[in-house]
Formats: sequence, C-alpha cells, structure tokens
Amino acid sequence: MAAKVYWTDMRTHGTISMLTKLERLLERSELAKMDLQNKFVAIKMHLGEPGNTAIIRPTYVKTVVDFIRKRGGKPFLTDCNTLYVGGRKNALDHIDSAYINGFSPLTVGAHVIIADGLKGTDEVEVPLEGMTYCPAPKIGRALMDADVVISLTHFKGHEQSGFGGALKNLGMGGGSRAGKMEQHAAGKPEVDAQQCVGCKQCAKNCAHDAITFPAADPAEKFPKAIINQDRCVGCGRCIGACNQDAIQPMWDEAREVLNHKIAEYTLAVVKDRPCFHISLVMDVSPTCDCANQSDAPIVPNVGIFCGLDPVALDQACADAVNAAPILQNTALTDAAGCDHHNDEHGHFHVVHPETCWEEQLIHGERIGLGSREYELIKL
Ligand code: SF4
Ligand code: SF4
Repeated sequence: MAAKVYWTDMRTHGTISMLTKLERLLERSELAKMDLQNKFVAIKMHLGEPGNTAIIRPTYVKTVVDFIRKRGGKPFLTDCNTLYVGGRKNALDHIDSAYINGFSPLTVGAHVIIADGLKGTDEVEVPLEGMTYCPAPKIGRALMDADVVISLTHFKGHEQSGFGGALKNLGMGGGSRAGKMEQHAAGKPEVDAQQCVGCKQCAKNCAHDAITFPAADPAEKFPKAIINQDRCVGCGRCIGACNQDAIQPMWDEAREVLNHKIAEYTLAVVKDRPCFHISLVMDVSPTCDCANQSDAPIVPNVGIFCGLDPVALDQACADAVNAAPILQNTALTDAAGCDHHNDEHGHFHVVHPETCWEEQLIHGERIGLGSREYELIKL
C-alpha cells in the first residue's frame, strides 16, 4: 500500500516563512496525532563535521523541538560517534562540533546527547529475525532508550551509499562504533605504526586480547601495537580508545552490502515504537555531512518532506532530486562527459557511479521496513 509523504516546496510569501511551512507540515501530518506527553523524544540528526556548511540550519531544528515541547514531549538531539578520525570521534569532541555547528540548548532549545557514550561503546544489541547480514544490530543506547524517534535528515549525496537520507541517518548514524564497523567493514581494523606511541590504551580496552606489542625494532624507542586478525572480532573499541588516531577501520565492505546493512540497522532503530521522519531536501551536496567541507549543491533546493514510512520518504526525496534540473559548475556537470550522465539510475549514480543507492530502498522494502510506493501530498 502506498505510504503518505507530505511535502512543501521552497516558496514563501508575506509572513509565511519556511519555518512556518515546516510547522504547518508537521501539524497536518501523523506526528501531530502522536502521544508525546512526557515522552523522551530522540531527534536523530547528523550533527555535521565542523567546516561543512550544507548541514541543516539550526532554526529548522528549533521548529521541530518547539513542536514537540508544545505537545508535552521531552526532546533531545542525538547522534552516534564516528568510525573515522575527525571532530565527532568521541562524545566530548562530538558535542563541541554540535555547538560549533549551531546545535546547542541555547539555539535550538534541546540538549545534545551522544547516543553511544563517551567512546562509542554504550550500545544495545537489537535482535532481528530473518535478516541477511545483521541478526543483532548494535545501536546507541540513548537512541534505543527514547520512547519516540524522529529522524531529522539533511538529504544529500553520499560517497559510499550513493545518497544519505532517513535510512542512512538512522541506520548508519544510529549504529554504535561496533555497529558502524559491522556495516562498513568486512575486515578488522589496522594500526598505523607511524602514529602509534605504544601507550597500550587500545590493549586495555580489547576484551579479546587481540592487540600485542612485539619487541621493539632497534630503530624504535618503544613497541608498537599490532592487531591479531584471528583474535579480533571487529568491535571497534580500540578505535575509540586510541587518542593518537592510530587505529583505523578497513572501509572494505561492498557498496551493495553496505546499503543492505544500513536498511537492516534502520529496522532495528524503528521497530516496535512510534517513529516519524522529516527530510530537508536543501543544499543537496554530492557528499555527506561527514566531510569537513561541502561542495556546491547539485540541484536547486526542492523543499521539506515528511512521513511515517522512512523507505517511502527516501524514495520520494530521491525521485524529487532526480527530477530536478542540474545546477552548473557542480559535481554533476563535472561528470558531463562520462557515460553515466544520463544514467537511468539518476543523479546520485552519476556523481557516485560505483554506488547503488537504490539497493538501500529495495532491501528496506524486502525486510518490511517500508514501501517504495508513496502518495505525495503537497501542503
Ligand atoms: S592506543 Fe593507539 S597509540 Fe596507544 S598503543 Fe594503541 S594504537 Fe598505539
Ligand atoms: S576491534 Fe575490538 S576485538 Fe579487534 S582489536 Fe579492536 S578492541 Fe580488540
């Protein structure tokens, strides 16, 4: 059955701003009928790498926070720590980055809670039956503790999954460090010997005795860590424990499998509780908000979309982007000479031809996460 997706375009007039339109959109949607009274409401966002300017503007976030508060809910912004080295690898840096990007209690009216804790180890395993890859996704605890989950997503391209929408925000973004390892890497992490200072913090955090320190090379002052690939279970704890950023994941999962895993992780986040999904199709950068810069948007701003079904929502947003005209001097026009420019798989496949973005949605529908069929309702 077709799922309802509500949307509004970017036009404003008189005293009607985009913030007013967002509020009206929510008032007309199923979110307005949900019981939020005294409920902990997780607003799952990508809080953005400092330097990225395509992230959601804080005023949109405040509008959603105010909407929830007016209905008696207790909203908080949340995200999980990253696998990669950057401004969001642990909770302290992550909260600093959120504040730098304008998402603070003073600006949006809600606290920031990093769902998987200080070093990305605070997680809940969610058993799922019938999955192809992930029988027990590892999700950030604060996200799982929430009574209601709202995804608030900046819809854009993504260098590994093709596009980043509600599923990417919830599935990959909701995964703890071990959860992200499970999605991104078929292999185990490795130590960069140049970065390692031999402090042994990684070994203290490894429950599998997988990290050893062979006798130091005479040219070195101290022994350096080595990961025993047979003992390592890929939990990723050592990555968060290393203050020198010397341990890195392999990033070697096949793109199609990565997208399937994202769908399965998303199911773990949303199953058996009230959820709602809002996506802003604006500043559609070719790559993710994980980058510390954002290249020019590939299409003009489209609008705001929302609904109960995250698969239908992502499909509607992707269709809207693919139907939009190409902006000049962008990653899309850079690809003008390539074989993919009029690709039947749309703009995201042109920009990232090695990805297969539709697989996220195909697999999402297959596992019962939602429907790719939707009814667009314009407000
Ligand atoms: S925590 Fe990092 S720097 Fe310290 S021994 Fe392990 S890999 Fe080396
Ligand atoms: S990923 Fe986990 S099991 Fe593997 S070395 Fe690191 S802490 Fe140990």
